Formats: sequence, C-alpha cells, structure tokens
Amino acid sequence: MNEDVAKGRHAGTSPWPLDGIAVERKSVSILGATGSIGDSTLDIVENHPELFEVVALTGGGNVQKLAEIALKVRPRFVAIADETKVSELRERLSDLSCEVAGGTEGVCAAAEVPCDLTVSAIVGFAGLAPTLAALDACGTLALANKESLVCAGGLVREKANQNGVTILPLDSEHNAIFQALGNDRMADVEKITLTASGGPFRTWAQSDIAAAGPEHALKHPNWSMGAKITIDSATLMNKGLEVIEAHHLFPVTPDQLSVVVHPQSIIHGMVSFIDGAVIAELGIPDMRTPIAHCMAHPNRISTRVERLDLAKIGNLTFEAPDFERFPNLALALSALADGDCATNLLNGANEVAVQAFLHKRIGFYDISGVVESVLADGNGAFRGHNGFTCFDDAADVDQFARKRAEERIALV
Ligand code: NAD
Ligand code: MG
Repeated sequence: MNEDVAKGRHAGTSPWPLDGIAVERKSVSILGATGSIGDSTLDIVENHPELFEVVALTGGGNVQKLAEIALKVRPRFVAIADETKVSELRERLSDLSCEVAGGTEGVCAAAEVPCDLTVSAIVGFAGLAPTLAALDACGTLALANKESLVCAGGLVREKANQNGVTILPLDSEHNAIFQALGNDRMADVEKITLTASGGPFRTWAQSDIAAAGPEHALKHPNWSMGAKITIDSATLMNKGLEVIEAHHLFPVTPDQLSVVVHPQSIIHGMVSFIDGAVIAELGIPDMRTPIAHCMAHPNRISTRVERLDLAKIGNLTFEAPDFERFPNLALALSALADGDCATNLLNGANEVAVQAFLHKRIGFYDISGVVESVLADGNGAFRGHNGFTCFDDAADVDQFARKRAEERIALV
C-alpha cells in the first residue's frame, strides 16, 4: 500500500469518536460541488450536520446551482471556474459573508482553504491543479477525480507523502478494495479485482455499437453519473482509467490487477489473498456509500442508501471483458505499462474524443481510434520521458494530447 493510503488504512484509535460523546465537526471542502459526486457528498453533509461543516465549494459553470448550494451550507469560500460568471455569483451571494473567486486560480484558492477533508470531484484534467493545491491544505483527500492520478499519479502521491496527507479512495471499486484489504499485509495479497458493469453496450453486437450515438451511450444501466464518466463506462475506458488509478493507490504490479464484468454492480471490488481467500465489498450501486466511508473514516456513519437485498436481486453474474468490442480497455492497459506520460496522453486524447462524440462530431469507435493515434504520436514525441516533476510538465503533455486529438478528429 502506498504510504499515503496506508496511513488511512492503519489509522489507530479514532480522533473523532462517535460514541455519544461530544464530536468536533470535520471541516470539508468540496471541489466539483455542482456535479454528481458533489450532489451525493452534499446529501451526506445534509444528513449529518452535527459531523460536517462545509468551508469551501467550487463549481465549473452552473452559477445558479453553485449559489443555491452556497446559500444552504454557508461556506467561507466559493469559486466558479467560468470567470464570466463571477460577478453573477458575487451578486447571488451578497448576503453571505464569504469570499467569492473565479477562474482556475480561484478554484485553486478555494482548494487551499485549510480543512480536515477535501472531496476532490472535478471531472478530468481540470481537477489536477486543484487536487495538488488541496494537498497543501487538507488533512485527508477523498479522491474521486481519478484523472489526476491517471495524468500525474507520481506527482500527486509524492506531494501527499511530503505533506503527510492521507489519500482515501472514493471511487467505488477502489473504496471496496480499500475496505477488503482491511489491515492485512500487502505481501499477502495475490490479486486485486475491479468489477465493471459492462455499460449499456455489454450485450450489443460490434456493428450496432459502431452506429450508437450519445443518446444510447448515456443510458448507463446501474449508475447515475456525470456525462464524461458515463461515456467512459460505455467504452470501458473508465475501467482502464481505474486500473491505472488502482496502480497508484495500491502497491501491486500491473499483472496483479484484473477486471471482471459483473453486470449487476453489486460487488464493487475484491482482494484475493495467498491462502485462497477472496474478500469483497457489496452494496447497492450508490456513490453515497463509498463517499460516506471516506468522510467518516476511520468510523462509519449512516446513509440514506437503499439496503442490499440479495434474495430480491437473485443472481450475481460474471464474465471476462471483451477487448475487441471495447478496445479502450486494452489501450489503457498498454499505456499503464508505458508509464505516467503515456497515461497522461491517453487521458487527454480521451477527454477530447469523448466531448467530440457527445457533440456528434465523431462516432463511437472513433473515440478509441483518436486515443490510439495520439498515444502513438505522443510516445514518439516524448520518448524516454521519465515521470513528471511539476504540474507544468504534466500540462505540457496534456496540451500535446489535446492538440493532436483535435487534429485527428478534424480528419474523421
Ligand atoms: P460531473 O460532470 O457530474 O461533475 C463535475 C464537476 O466538476 C462539476 O461540479 C463541474 O462544474 C466541475 N467542473 C467541470 N469542469 C471544470 C473545470 N474546468 N474547472 C473546475 N470545475 C469543473 O462529474 P461526476 O460524475 O461528479 O464526476 C466527477 C469525478 O468523479 C470524475 O473524475 C469521475 O471520474 C469521478 N467519479 C465519479 C463517479 C460518479 O458516480 N459520478 C464515480 C466514481 C468516480
Ligand atoms: Mg468507479
């Protein structure tokens, strides 16, 4: 287990007792508060006002929603990434005594407000700079923004270690694995398995998938999430990003990481040990469970999540992933083998291609076509690249990937 995650796993006596004695509220910052993970996080805060106090909020461009949240939770700092909306935000929050800022700088300033816990839930590479900023200000980072690990995992881990910040995995599969590991020794772990729902096209023929549009790909069978991750789930890129994420969170070799398709999404992750035991975490697919686990860690708190009734569900089924119909998974695994630079290129190309697919500029399989060609170009351009030492290095590679991806898309 990497040092930062390990600290969370082996936390000793709770600094935050829940046994009826007075409890000091945890101060919480929510980066990406207007998104799907933001909604689920705020549901937990609303359910436990005695435990959490929100001190900072950020949003991308939805000024109305961000202002509504701020008026409800009354934080000290609110930032909106879209600078053109700052004055409107300021106006809407004129009755609150809180600081209001805009742009990437404003979002990073919000991330720098000192707090006990930061929930990092901005989507995409845009989450990397605020995540790095949060590592200077928080005690614990609950990480949903998997792209920050995919783009610059070494950098994020190093900063967390330097600053003594614990990273807790909020992504459901990684949170499940974290729970399944318990206090076992990593040396006794044989294999880590992430489950994948298989997405909306799991049973579709390749020719039908090829003709699918965003209206089909956005219909996820089990999870309700933001648009980008929903498309990533349909292409299985999400599982590829998650294998890379797992590689950064848990000290196992890539060949110890595996994926199994489990259409019911009841088992979220599993750990296989050297004695043949397999420990899994189960639950209804609802992000409030892993978020609550991170927020309450090392304790547990109640949630308003529907309870699991296995007799009602009946069958839990499993199948191997199909790399032919879902080539993005293979591309992600090969990028993992090539290192931080390749996974950064993979992410940048994918983000651009997913947006182009959502805007109907390209077809479903053009997403993997774009990613594959950008990886080939980038692996040549950055041959011998040996990990990122600062944010700007990672941003340069990301910019290269985006530019090349746009060029490829123009040829489609
Ligand atoms: P979402 O699209 O619903 O929300 C994204 C948030 O980021 C919003 O608040 C948006 O305003 C903000 N944002 C977008 N662009 C921004 C920018 N340039 N600068 C600053 N803020 C910006 O996405 P989501 O589904 O909540 O996912 C958020 C992250 O959590 C992603 O990295 C995703 O992979 C991860 N995640 C999500 C789920 C889920 O169930 N939704 C599960 C696991 C992991
Ligand atoms: Mg996940």
